[in-house]
Order: sequence, then C-alpha cells, then structure tokens
Amino acid sequence: MPKLEIHQFPCLSDNFGVLIRDAEQGVVASIDAPDANAVTAALAAKGWRLTHILTTHHHHDHTGGNLALKAETACTIIGPRGEAAKTPGIDKQVGEGDTFAFGAHQVRVLDTPGHTAGHITYWIPSANAVFVGDTLFAIGCGRVIEGNAQIMWQSLQKLKALPKETAVYCGHEYTQANARFALTIEPENEALQKRAREVDQLRAAGKATLPTTIGLELETNPFLRPHVPAIQKRLDMVAKPEWQIFGEIRERKNRS
Ligand code: ZN
Ligand code: FE
Repeated sequence: MPKLEIHQFPCLSDNFGVLIRDAEQGVVASIDAPDANAVTAALAAKGWRLTHILTTHHHHDHTGGNLALKAETACTIIGPRGEAAKTPGIDKQVGEGDTFAFGAHQVRVLDTPGHTAGHITYWIPSANAVFVGDTLFAIGCGRVIEGNAQIMWQSLQKLKALPKETAVYCGHEYTQANARFALTIEPENEALQKRAREVDQLRAAGKATLPTTIGLELETNPFLRPHVPAIQKRLDMVAKPEWQIFGEIRERKNRS
C-alpha cells in the first residue's frame, strides 16, 4: 500500500488545516485552505511544497486561502462541480463518482450536500482516510444551511457506509460542545460517556480531538444513531423515519 503522510493543524478560531503528502511522487495537497498564512507556515514547518488544494465547499473559512496560495505556489485547485462559481481559483471540477490520482493514491469523490448544496467529500481508500469538510464532525454534524434534513441524512448515510477503520478528518474542532449536547440525546450511551471524558482531557491539555474514525462515530455520534430505540423513545419518535429523527436532533442542536 502506498504511504500517505497526513499533517493536521489548528487555524483561524476553530478550523483545522490538513496537509497530505505522497512522498514518493512529491505531491502535497491542502484539504481546504482556511488561511493562506497558516497553510504556508505548516508547509514550511514540514518542508513540503504545495501542489494541490482539495476544496470541500465554498465557505470562506475553507476557501479564504485559495488565491494567495495559488499565486504563491501555482498549485492546482480541485473543487466541487456544484460550487465552481463560488470556489476561488478552481481549476478542476469534481463530483459524485469521480476519481483522480494523488501520487500513487486514488481519491474518490462523494457528493455530500446539506451543509452547502454542492459540498463534496474526498475519500482515499488506500490510506483509510476521508476528508469530510463540514458534513460530519466528531460527535456532531454540520449545520444544514443549503439543504434540508433529508438531503443531509442521505449524505451522512454515505459516510456511515465507509469502512469502520477509516480515519475521519473534519473542518472544525467542535467536539467538546458536541459531546455535551450528545449526552442530552443519549445519556445512557457508555461509549459516549467515556469519550466525553477523553475529549475533556484532550482539550484541557490543549490537544486536538481529531481525527476520529467511522467506527467511533457510529458508536457515539447521535446524528448517526436515529435507529437507536432509546433515542427514539427520548424524542418521542418511535418508528419514525430515520431522516426525521435526524432532523429533530439537528433542530435541538441548533437551539442548544
Ligand atoms: Zn462550512
Ligand atoms: Fe467551516
């Protein structure tokens, strides 16, 4: 299996930057570009030269660094076909089912709309890694801004179906607040209780709680668990469609 190096770093107020590198072929991508200076500093710290930006969605805290980084490095910007007009500097448009080579790795593109209408996710099976932008968070999910609960639920279904050992890289460090909220939805979930304690410890030590894994999210993320009887009962939604239960959890989070 070809090796993929992954370097995650915090930037802006609560975003993550992520750099990935195939050392053998000398390609380096920034997953989104929240802030050009922060990405440039991370590249310098690693001694890496940027060749690509992979944009997940058009929001400024994910594309704000695109043009400056492109001017500096002449990197190729790959981004969502559905948001090409809103993605600064985009060179190559991709969407559901598309694949492209990143060094020796194959990147698979999933459409994951809901947070934004054209949001995409980059999955690299050979590295067991997925880059989900603002669709899924650790113990949470993105706000549904340009879609509805049913659309977002379909997107989360795709992520639920990935191999459990897949490492999940998300756009933001929201885990501690997400855990507090999740415990109001499923207080009896022991895996969630344990993880909430671990998250508190990591944050107290100033450490990131990401990446997570699909397996851990399936066990602890209430937004992926509308099928659980205890949650359905607590929400008074027994046997309702899963997307509706998901939507109710999302509404409650919005109000929390
Ligand atoms: Zn966003
Ligand atoms: Fe964001």
